[in-house]
Amino acid sequence: RLSITDFSASSFFASTAEKSEERVINLDHGDPTMYETFWRRMGDRTTIVISGWQTMSYFSDIGNLCWFLEPEFAQQIIRLHKVVGNAVTENRHIVVGTGSSQLFQAALYALSPMDATDPISVVSAAPYYSSYPLITDCLKSGLHKWAGDARCFNKSGPYIELITSPNNPDGFVRHSVVNQSEGMLVHDLAYYWPQYTPITSPADYELMLFTVSKCTGHAGTRIGWALVKDEQVARKMVKFIELSTIGVSKDSQLRAAQVLKVASDSCESHEESGSFFDYSYQLMAKRWKQLTEAVQQPGLFSMPDIPPQFCSFYKKIFKPQPAFAWVKCEGEIHDCEGFFRENKILVRSGKHFGDSPKLVRINMLDREQIFEAFVRRIQMIQM
Ligand code: PMP
Repeated sequence: RLSITDFSASSFFASTAEKSEERVINLDHGDPTMYETFWRRMGDRTTIVISGWQTMSYFSDIGNLCWFLEPEFAQQIIRLHKVVGNAVTENRHIVVGTGSSQLFQAALYALSPMDATDPISVVSAAPYYSSYPLITDCLKSGLHKWAGDARCFNKSGPYIELITSPNNPDGFVRHSVVNQSEGMLVHDLAYYWPQYTPITSPADYELMLFTVSKCTGHAGTRIGWALVKDEQVARKMVKFIELSTIGVSKDSQLRAAQVLKVASDSCESHEESGSFFDYSYQLMAKRWKQLTEAVQQPGLFSMPDIPPQFCSFYKKIFKPQPAFAWVKCEGEIHDCEGFFRENKILVRSGKHFGDSPKLVRINMLDREQIFEAFVRRIQMIQM
């Protein structure tokens, strides 16, 4: 497995290798640097200044169940969901987290019975996001335990099912699959934004996770939010965040609030340059067209065909254009990740997602230059 350090090492190769065909193209991580161009264009609109004396207290809103939630950030979350129409925020508690990764852990903590003799099973339908099993079991908790592919789960009693929709790695719209009465569901909606998938209705689940990482591309700000119906579950999630980090960076929340504000403003202003989502939708559409054309020669690769749906945000029908390409190596190639590595493209094997090593996940959100180099490499491989 590549670490972040390896990532910077190969970016270095990418910029210094003399011949473009010798460059290592690293598309293993879902780093959303594609969005930098838009935010650069926004200039100072997202700049905030925080003086030395500000944001010093641990506390943000002592009257709120989530006492470390910055009110301005909460307001911008509600506004953006209203503008996009992708989630119901009424009668929900908002819990902020250091990325939705922390909120995922908080949700597991909150939903696991405290007095059970055995850890509760945590499942997700394969192919599932590769971090779920690693995060669930990293502390070998007595509270919860990874139990694999939800489609094979047949134990009775309580369980937690993770539903990622649209799904990482394959981009399909997902619903729960276990359907037993004692299931507790966590909906990870990191990619339920109109640049990736048609918005079909406002999501209205018990526990929903979102992140600025995939919405606006501000992964380094490390901010996510949960919309939680049940007060006791929200309280326990807050407790977890108190125990692990005594709250969430106020500086980051204020920066995220400003970014979400500018994203909402861009949708409402009808400027000629278009909204943030128009920009990112167009860029994703262009990339998917390029990739689809590049892999069209029959024989070597295939990709899933995801059905189009009507999007209430764009008021039109379109096919999902996921943040990742889920590519299958056809024929005799059994180690698809290895095949890409031989061609100096780093991607993540299907085996990390509970699927076959004939499949790989490829990041579609890298900078333009890297994506262009990737498409050229794919064309070269097939020649
Ligand atoms: N959920 C899913 C499905 C993801 O793909 C990611 C990021 N790869 C996350 C959660 C984590 O997001 P964050 O940066 O907010 O921790």
